[in-house]
Amino acid sequence: MPRFLAAILCAVPVLLAGCSPPSSDSEGPAPDLIVINADVHTVDPSAPKAGAFAVTDGRFSAIGTNEDIRHLAGDATTVIDAGGVTVLPGLIDGHTHLIGGSGLAVGVDLSNIEDKEEWLRRVREKAMSLPEGEWILGGGWDHNLSDGILPTKEMLDQVAPAHPVLLDDIDGHSTWANSRAIELAGITADSPVPAGGEIVVDPATGQPAGIFKETAGRLFDGAPGLAEATDPVTGLAAAVELANSLGLTTVHDMSGNFDAFLSLLDDGKLTLRVWQGVRPAAADDGVPADLYAGLARERARIRELVAASPHTAASGTLFDIGYTKLIIDGVLSTHTALMKAPYSDMPDAEPEPFVSKERLNAMIAAAHQHDFPVAVHAIGDEGVSWVLDAFAASPGVAGGPADRIEHVEVVTPDDVERFRSQGVTASMQPHHATCCVGNYVIGRIGRERLDNAYDWRGMLDQGVPLVLGSDWPTSPFDPLVQITDTLHRETRIDGVVRPWDEGRALTFDEALYGYTQAGANATDWGDEIGSISVGKWADFVVLDEQLAEPVGRSLESRRVTQTWLAGRRVFGE
Ligand SMILES: [Zn+2]
Repeated sequence: MPRFLAAILCAVPVLLAGCSPPSSDSEGPAPDLIVINADVHTVDPSAPKAGAFAVTDGRFSAIGTNEDIRHLAGDATTVIDAGGVTVLPGLIDGHTHLIGGSGLAVGVDLSNIEDKEEWLRRVREKAMSLPEGEWILGGGWDHNLSDGILPTKEMLDQVAPAHPVLLDDIDGHSTWANSRAIELAGITADSPVPAGGEIVVDPATGQPAGIFKETAGRLFDGAPGLAEATDPVTGLAAAVELANSLGLTTVHDMSGNFDAFLSLLDDGKLTLRVWQGVRPAAADDGVPADLYAGLARERARIRELVAASPHTAASGTLFDIGYTKLIIDGVLSTHTALMKAPYSDMPDAEPEPFVSKERLNAMIAAAHQHDFPVAVHAIGDEGVSWVLDAFAASPGVAGGPADRIEHVEVVTPDDVERFRSQGVTASMQPHHATCCVGNYVIGRIGRERLDNAYDWRGMLDQGVPLVLGSDWPTSPFDPLVQITDTLHRETRIDGVVRPWDEGRALTFDEALYGYTQAGANATDWGDEIGSISVGKWADFVVLDEQLAEPVGRSLESRRVTQTWLAGRRVFGE
């Protein structure tokens, strides 16, 4: 009998009276670790709840009740008494940009903060933690959340006079700098600005006010010490650490810069499984077959390096070039998403597709030929239709993960049905709905099309695989925030936070599946991770308390206290 089957069957001795309980004597070495007295949500449909489990050689080796597991412990077994708190499988974020977010991880993170005083408090705190003269980076600020007035260099000078400070806004369109940074970069009000940029000038002094719009941010590029401060490996290490602290053990990422990941892997600091999406450098021209032949060679080189790493033997694959990413349209906020009917608040807008239908079809076919599953960014209902058409014309990778569409912010019911019939995965980000429906989405698409927006419920009701994620750094990295968003499906309308379409929220179990096993199934690792099941890598998360039943608002105040990857603690103590 396979080991996993024995362990499962022996967990139900009533049904199998002849089955001797698992023991350290009869079944080989004692586990390295057991976790007892836990409220385990396994995400394994064959046994959704458990009280304890054992880990041997980095994998779950037995799962059951305290009685089942406790006696497996040997002299060298680490025993964790969870004291009744909830344990979940390692969380999987289906859409991240780790390197894009690394500035927030390494520097200050001002995203989703309304109070400017709090921005300054965080900058001051960072300044106190860094030697004078070191760059303070990060940002994510949004003055529209606050008083709508752009911040100034003087505000930063007050809290960090001795450090150069450079903070990007939430959309990456403006940079906010202090006097020290402006001086170091040698910028004056008269500096020539690259096309499309602007140095905001203080009319009272005639000097730069501290805000550099669009390409003007590039004027800081050669400033002394900045390159070192933005080293991608350092930034990536901080982003991985942040991910672990939030309970994430796997991400589907779109960063590029493979060497930064390989360097972390070499140093044993890649404590996160990364399923990397690759974007062809010349997506707009070049022969598709040649582009993907080149990427396939790069993938082969990387797979060889990763397979040879001692960390792969100990923890399973931590980095793979898993899929390719294409983009068909823009976003609703700027009226650049492709819609079937005109925008309600700008009927004359004529968004252009980012690639032609012919080009999209050719790219997808070439990707499949070279065994790359395809993910396409499509936000408007017309963009989603185009991508479904293209997927229908080119069967996906045989035996590989399904093709997927990213975001799917507006989709017709007919197309939801096509996701199912064509076997396409929907990859959606809950906070993109809750942040923005009341903010601008109702304006863009009108209330009559709102039923087709952010239709997680429709996807699940049709049996479409739904992968949830954050799209960090554009929205909160914290999976518990994103999952909470699916439970309440609330947005701010006319100043009041309330549900906009009662009855179309998800249950906690549905959302948890979207943040675990569904994400695993969209990689090559569906049998290796995604649930607390015997034989899978022991990736799991310990919360600070037991989750209430049913899981409701209290989820917002839960915190991750420990994160484990392949039976090794990577966050918490
Ligand atoms: Zn993205």
